[in-house]
Amino acid sequence: MLYECNDVGEAPRDAVVALAGLLNSANRIAFLTGAGVSTDSGIPDFRSSTGVYQTTSAEIFAIDSFFEDPERFYSFFAPFYRDTIAARPNSGHLAIAALEKLCNKNVEVVTQNIDALHSAAGSSVVWEIHGTLRFASCMRCGKRYERDAFQDDMLAGRAPKCACGGVLKPDVVFFGEGLPDREFAGAQRAMWGANLLIVAGTSLAVYPAAGLPRECDADAPFVVLNKTPTPLDYQATLVCRAPISATLPYAVALLAKSQKEGIAIDQVAVDRNELDPIVASWENF
Ligand SMILES: [Zn+2]
Repeated sequence: MLYECNDVGEAPRDAVVALAGLLNSANRIAFLTGAGVSTDSGIPDFRSSTGVYQTTSAEIFAIDSFFEDPERFYSFFAPFYRDTIAARPNSGHLAIAALEKLCNKNVEVVTQNIDALHSAAGSSVVWEIHGTLRFASCMRCGKRYERDAFQDDMLAGRAPKCACGGVLKPDVVFFGEGLPDREFAGAQRAMWGANLLIVAGTSLAVYPAAGLPRECDADAPFVVLNKTPTPLDYQATLVCRAPISATLPYAVALLAKSQKEGIAIDQVAVDRNELDPIVASWENF
């Protein structure tokens, strides 16, 4: 079933009810998330029409360019880094954490985002398959540092250095690098164990992440929440072409309300005036 939001960005009531019903029926839910989950937190989408790649060359994110001239990378990267560390989880991140913390679902999040906002929202199991900006490692001796050790240099657009004199590189996957083995293996296990998969905020354009939905049980329902079409829409149980904030938080609020009041989902009022306060009450779990 395909739903599209109206011109003020509201998802149809039926889409919210259908999504809540799928969430209710599943107990092991895997999410595969991308940039579209974080745009509401003010983090630019690298691949959208207004994304960073349109204004500069993707070449700056190539590992060879980094090795050649780390200072050039860091001077370019400083504003993006500043936006990322200032960002806070939005209602999409909070809805995923609420599913686990309020609705007692077993949730694993596989994300292509490097902003650590799922963990900040309170999700317990997060597989960061493109790495994370929380850490950086020395290119010479391999020592790993936490953010406090390199944040000031990165904000100033300078290459942070290790005690050994080597340059630190953020623990994120550059073009030309493989994905972190442990994270990708965790992501695959999350897919294998899921009885519902929700793809949110990614157009499934980048492999190997885009291949992960195929790892799920073929009988498991599969939902796509993304503003634009994806190559797997035709296989999905439910497709909602709307911003994440218009769908997922309301479906989770509906489920939480149905559980709390002991009423079946299709009997709960789906009025936004009733669901908005529930969504607004969520803080980092
Ligand atoms: Zn070192």
